[in-house]
Amino acid sequence: MHKQNFKIILSFLLILLSNFILSQKKFTIVLDAGHGGSDHGANRTYSDIGRVAEKDVTLAITLKVGSMLEKNKDFKVIYTRKFDEYPSLSDRTNLANRSKADLFVSIHCNSSVRPTAYGTETYVQGPNQNDENLEVAKRENDVIFLDEKDKQTFGSYNASSPESLIALKLQQSKYLESSLLLGGLVEDNFVNKDKRFSRGVFQKNLHVLRMNAMPSVLIETGFINHPEESHYLASEKGQNEISESIYNAIIEYKKAVDRKSGGSIAMNNKKPEPEKPAETALKNDFRILLLSSPVKYNEGDPALKGLNYILPLKENGQYKYYYGVTNMASVKDINLKTAKDAGFRNAFAVGFMPNQKLSTGYYTIEVFVGEKLNGNSFILQTLKDVERNKDNGVFYYTYGKVYSLEDAVKLQKEIEAKGIKNTIIQKVYK
Ligand SMILES: [Zn+2]
Repeated sequence: MHKQNFKIILSFLLILLSNFILSQKKFTIVLDAGHGGSDHGANRTYSDIGRVAEKDVTLAITLKVGSMLEKNKDFKVIYTRKFDEYPSLSDRTNLANRSKADLFVSIHCNSSVRPTAYGTETYVQGPNQNDENLEVAKRENDVIFLDEKDKQTFGSYNASSPESLIALKLQQSKYLESSLLLGGLVEDNFVNKDKRFSRGVFQKNLHVLRMNAMPSVLIETGFINHPEESHYLASEKGQNEISESIYNAIIEYKKAVDRKSGGSIAMNNKKPEPEKPAETALKNDFRILLLSSPVKYNEGDPALKGLNYILPLKENGQYKYYYGVTNMASVKDINLKTAKDAGFRNAFAVGFMPNQKLSTGYYTIEVFVGEKLNGNSFILQTLKDVERNKDNGVFYYTYGKVYSLEDAVKLQKEIEAKGIKNTIIQKVYK
C-alpha cells in the first residue's frame, strides 16, 4: 500500500472517529406529537375557523420545536411522528427507550367538561401509582384501550404486583426531579413570555410517561373547547409562541443538566463559563404545607385541588396537608409554585430533618374516624392491637407506634397494602 493512500485512509478514519465521538455526546430528545391518524384527540368545530383537532395542533407545534432544536448541533431530535399517523403509545415509549434519549416531551391539547376551563399545564410521572380518579389521567390513558398492540405489550405488565410497582417507582423517582425542573421552565415561559395562564406542574400517572426510562413531560398547551384559547392554538402566532416557549425551556433545561454533570463544556475543550455552581442537596427535606383543617379530606377530594402526592399529618386535632417532598431548593420552589398556582395562595415550605426521631411523643396511624366499629369489621379483623379513643361522640381508631416520620410513612404503606385506605399519620405528644 502506498504511504499516501495510507495517510488518506488514516485521516478518513480519524474523521469518522471524531464524528462518532461528537454524535455520541449529542443530547437526544424525543418529541411526541400527541394522538394522530384515526385518533383525533380533543376537537371542536367553530363557525369561523372550522374544526380544530388536537392531533393537528400538536403536530404543528412539535415540528416547530423540532426545527428550532435541529439548528443546534448539540441536539439530536427524534420524532414519534412527523405526519398525520398514529404510533401506539408503546411505539412511542419504545422508540424513546431504544434511542436512549435524554428527554421525552409529549405535546397535547386539553379539553374539559367545564367550558370555562383554560390555561396550560404540564404533567410529570408522579410516584403515586394509584391515581385513578383524575380526568386527565383517564383521558390520556384511555387511548391505550383503543389499541391492540398496546394491549399485548401491557398485558404482561401486572400493575398490582408489588415488585413491578417498587421497580417502577424507583426508576421514576430518579427522573422525577429532572422532569419537574423542565415542567417548571415550560410553565414559567408560558406565563412570562406569552402572558398566558398556567394551571401548574402536576404529578400524574400517565401511560405515555410511565414506561419511559428518562425524564419526561407531557405539556397540555391549552384547551381545545375554550373558544378564545382554541383560536390561539390554531393560529400561526399561537403555535409560534408555544413552540418558542417549549424550545427555550429545553435549552435552559440542558444548561442546568450540563452544569450539574460538568459534561459537555469540558468535552469541547473550552474554558467553563463562570456559571452558577451545581445545585447541592439541602440538609433538610422540604414539603409544601397546603392547608391546616379540622376536616379530614380523602385522596382526590376537591379541597385538594387535583394535587397528588399529598401527605396528610394530624397534629393537635388539625389535619395538615403537605405536598411533595424534596431536598433540592429548585424543586422546592417549583413545588411551592405548583401549590400556589393550584389555588393554595398561603402555601409555604416546611423543613423536615430526615430520619429525625421524636424525643417526646410518637407517630401512629389513624385508621378510622366515625361510628364505633363492629368487631367483625375489616379494619379490626385485619389489624391487631388497634387503639380506640372517643371524643365528642366520635370514635378514633389508631394503630402502631413509631418514632420517625419515615417509619410512619412505611407503616402507613404496609397498612394500605392490606387494603385499608385513606389513613392518616398522626403525631402524638405525650
Ligand atoms: Zn391528548
